[in-house]
Amino acid sequence: MKSLKEKIAVAVLGATGSVGQKFIEMLADHPWFEIRELCASDKSAGKEYQDAVDWFLSSTLPSSVKKIVVKRCEPNLKSKVVFSGLDSSVAGKIETEFAKEGYTVISNSKNHRMDNDVPLLIPEVNPDHLTLIKKQNYGSGCIVTNPNCSVIGLVIALKPLADKFGLEAANVSTMQAISGAGHPRVANLDIEDNVIPLIKGEEDKVETEPLKILGTIKNEILEFENFKISAQCNRVNVSDGHTECVQIKLKRKATKQDLIEAWQNFSSLPQELNLPSAPYKPIHYLNEEKLPQPKYQRSADKGMAVSVGRLREDPLFDFKFVVLSHNTVRGAAGGAILCAELMKAQGII
Ligand code: NAP
Repeated sequence: MKSLKEKIAVAVLGATGSVGQKFIEMLADHPWFEIRELCASDKSAGKEYQDAVDWFLSSTLPSSVKKIVVKRCEPNLKSKVVFSGLDSSVAGKIETEFAKEGYTVISNSKNHRMDNDVPLLIPEVNPDHLTLIKKQNYGSGCIVTNPNCSVIGLVIALKPLADKFGLEAANVSTMQAISGAGHPRVANLDIEDNVIPLIKGEEDKVETEPLKILGTIKNEILEFENFKISAQCNRVNVSDGHTECVQIKLKRKATKQDLIEAWQNFSSLPQELNLPSAPYKPIHYLNEEKLPQPKYQRSADKGMAVSVGRLREDPLFDFKFVVLSHNTVRGAAGGAILCAELMKAQGII
């Protein structure tokens, strides 16, 4: 089911931002979805997209969107599926308004992620959580969220280990790219010749979101997974791609080879359904000692695969390793598009 006869009309909220631009790049030639409407703040509304946006991606601005006139983020759009890359200061209220008016909202913002009835979805990890939508009170509308950009890479790497060996504890230090801070040309000024040991609110997300994603639905209620995570999050001078140094303690004994096999054999529903944006293999384990590195691995399988390497035994925990994933692709726009593809394949869209 790689191509549909008629494409589904979609809109992007926050279309001018870092994530919004990635949505546009990734949706420009999508086999199932077609961008019909673009929305942003009052500053951009009323302008043609080519004049409203400061396009900073290395690809060319797709000609199909250049002349689309940017609208305000109001639920009077023709497209019933909306991808949100809105600033979190406004996303919560706007996304609720859209869902109440019958729109399917797939969001990258933090605002609704921890709501009891909102799936915090990684299609390879917790596709069954989509059933939570039935508990929402938005009529024909709904909200589905994409996890935090560091959490997505981390949890994809943890999932096969959690399933096979159980997780007792995890310690994570992140080195996060500039594009994760929003418009990169602005963030560039602070990060030149620097490392910033604070990303406001990020550590809390990394310590809590995985427990929801790895949770289990019992009698229609989501029970969070129960293990401790400690996180330290840093902004580093890298354009795209978050690197994470991870230490884990397992519930059951395993060897290094057991972990590598668990990663290498990991495959899930998006691969089975052959969804258009699904990576062929969600996890690439790299044997080379000095990998993964953002410069070389961030675009693995079009930026949708997570790279893992440097697996070693750890004197404090059981094992340590490095995870790398593309923050605006797998960690934002690409992840959200994969969620929408899964929802389409399951008849929700
Ligand atoms: P960004 O570059 O700052 O873009 C924010 C977008 O929101 C812009 O399109 C902006 O439009 C729009 N906006 C701001 N105020 C608005 C208002 N009052 N009404 C309507 N639209 C408004 O931010 P970003 O990095 O793309 O992040 C977007 C969201 O995704 C955030 O919630 C962020 O936490 C999350 N996220 C980001 C990443 C990443 O790697 N960057 C990854 C995962 C999740 P104007 O240009 O018109 O102001």
